[in-house]
Amino acid sequence: MRFSILTLHPELVRSPLDHSIVGRAREAGKLEVEVCDIRDHAPGKHRQADDAPYGGGAGMVMKVDVLDAAITAARSEGAKVLLATPSGRRLDQAWARELADESHLVLVCGHYEGVDARVEELVDGEFSIGDYVLTGGELAALVLVEAVGRLLPGVLGNDDSAQDESFSAGRLEYPQYTRPRSYKDMDVPDVLLSGHHAKIEAWRREQSDERTRARRPDLLVDVDPADDAR
Ligand code: SAM
Repeated sequence: MRFSILTLHPELVRSPLDHSIVGRAREAGKLEVEVCDIRDHAPGKHRQADDAPYGGGAGMVMKVDVLDAAITAARSEGAKVLLATPSGRRLDQAWARELADESHLVLVCGHYEGVDARVEELVDGEFSIGDYVLTGGELAALVLVEAVGRLLPGVLGNDDSAQDESFSAGRLEYPQYTRPRSYKDMDVPDVLLSGHHAKIEAWRREQSDERTRARRPDLLVDVDPADDAR
């Protein structure tokens, strides 16, 4: 799968893409990420990519003609182009799974006051990573690359890891433990040391349900009855 990140700040996104799971997946050729400088498509000596807003107001707005040229250069046949914006569809695990089936995602990062509203007509969708405002779309694009990239076959060491995780079946994950068995009077639950796989499985489901009810009851509203019958 391929990602193209369109940004005014290429250096801001490059380094995180070189490390951990995403970095290894890129090295292994399971994931391709290109970082494109929007300013390469801005005309003139000053390569101006933004301008003052019509109607007045604070800040600068990214220009539609510059973004159009950048998107056109990055878009491939069948690519899906998504604009990062606080008013976009909230990224969640279910959408990340859908996006993992795409062959090429082009992510457009806004900056300053945002982008000329006509850019909405040039993209296939808009995404937000939460109800807060960032300075630019770069961190949002990195979050999307990470959330989607780790779901691609062979990217995680064990593909089952992504099946069991929080949000995968409309629930939070059960608690995990590792050595030492006892630490400052806090003990690992006995069932996990029992070697009894069915009991461990049942305990994990129960814990997962309990945690979800206590911390994120909103997730249970959307649970598919098939998942609920686990
Ligand atoms: N004036 C805009 C508004 O009120 O909606 C906010 C612009 S923000 C300062 C600059 C850029 O950061 C946006 O164009 C977008 O690309 C990115 N951005 C900010 N918050 C975001 C979020 N929660 N999710 C995705 N992108 C975000």
